[in-house]
Amino acid sequence: MEAVTPGTPVHFYDTRSHAIACGVRGADNRSTKHPRQVTCGACIALMAARAGAAPMEAPADSAGAPS
Ligand SMILES: [Zn+2]
Repeated sequence: MEAVTPGTPVHFYDTRSHAIACGVRGADNRSTKHPRQVTCGACIALMAARAGAAPMEAPADSAGAPS
C-alpha cells in the first residue's frame, strides 16, 4: 500500500481564509479543498469541529429517493 507517501500529509485548504486550516505554510505542503482527500490529523480535527458548528456541505444521500 503506497498510495500515500509517508511524511507528506494532505492538508485542508480553507477557501474562506485562503490558507491551510492547521496553519502550516510553504510550497512543499500539499493541500486540497476536498475533505475526503485530507490526511493531516490536525486539519481533519478542525474540519470536524467546523462541521459540528456549521455544516459546509449537505449530505450526499439527502437527495436520494426514499427507501
Ligand atoms: Zn494540516
